[in-house]
Amino acid sequence: MAGAVLVTGGTGYIGGELIKQLLAKGWTVHTTIRDTAKSEVRLFDRFGQPPADKLKVFQAELLSDDGWAEAVAGCTHVAHVASPVSDTTPDDEDELIVPAREGTLRARRFARQAGVQRFVHTSSIAAVAYGRGGKEYTSTEADWTDVNSPDTTAYAKSKTIAERTARDWIAAEGAKDGKSTEYVSINPVLVLGPVDSNDFSASVTPVTMLLTGKVPMAPDIGFGVVDLRDVADLHVRCLEAPGINGERFIASGKFMKMIDLANVMRRGLTKEQAKKLPKRSMPGWVASLFMLINPPFRSVKNELGRVRHSDASHAEEVLGWKTRPEEDSILDCARSLFEHGVVKV
Ligand code: NAP
Repeated sequence: MAGAVLVTGGTGYIGGELIKQLLAKGWTVHTTIRDTAKSEVRLFDRFGQPPADKLKVFQAELLSDDGWAEAVAGCTHVAHVASPVSDTTPDDEDELIVPAREGTLRARRFARQAGVQRFVHTSSIAAVAYGRGGKEYTSTEADWTDVNSPDTTAYAKSKTIAERTARDWIAAEGAKDGKSTEYVSINPVLVLGPVDSNDFSASVTPVTMLLTGKVPMAPDIGFGVVDLRDVADLHVRCLEAPGINGERFIASGKFMKMIDLANVMRRGLTKEQAKKLPKRSMPGWVASLFMLINPPFRSVKNELGRVRHSDASHAEEVLGWKTRPEEDSILDCARSLFEHGVVKV
């Protein structure tokens, strides 16, 4: 059913993989980037330079109207992927919340004005599974993160508020002027898979930290893991499948602790590549201290000892989607980090 689709955030980890898959399926792709210099390195180095009529690049910022009308003109679909992703806690949480919320509304508004049929929003498990009590539980699409909980990070707030705002806006304004645009969200857990350069998403940080020996023992935290290529594939399915207006799809594989990630890499990498991987879990009090003095971990200190499973059966049942074994995503990610010189043996 290939038509024309706007993918926001084409320079990103997920955005780039999605563009690659859409081009391979014959879609015409428009993409927004905020820094034109990045289009050479982050787009064309990635999958060559497709014919200009198949991939069109537009400059647009989440916080400004400039460029959006041009970017979406002629598109039947939008995949709104762009949003700030950070592995540190900003001093001002609005640094993440405002662009996430305003950018989603802006993309949504321009999509409706352009008569787009469907808007697929890359939300996150961060909008589903956080800010609730309990050490171990399984989340489904019926759950929402509590943004008022002290456990909820700025990033989780940004994703929850952005998805809520988009859904509320549709309920209030979505079908005005005789135009309406379908809305579907995708809520992935930690996305891992091959990186294609040394400029990559913060989601890869747990893997780089383990490989570089920055964590001498593995803190007792974990994440659901899902493959980059399969998350992009779920986006394609959500763009193409009929009858899914309003749906929410969790994209998740198994929940894995940091020590599980380290063990997978120890088994699959060469001895030399694996030499800095931690072999033991960190005692709780050491982990608390470690997180206090290591900014990338400070934002996840509330994760100590938590086990958050996510149920992806809805995407499997409705869209026939599934993700590959987590081991493949982790090892492909690790090997690509060596290949691009991000981690050196
Ligand atoms: P990424 O590689 O950092 O990509 C983020 C993209 O958003 C980049 O293209 C970035 O542009 C763009 N962006 C950020 N702030 C912007 C702004 N103010 N104006 C315009 N563009 C802006 O991260 P990713 O992992 O691919 O994440 C993509 C989406 O997936 C995000 O919505 C994220 O919340 C969601 N997600 C990611 C994961 C994960 O584990 N990776 C899991 C769940 C959901 P620049 O290249 O110019 O910075």
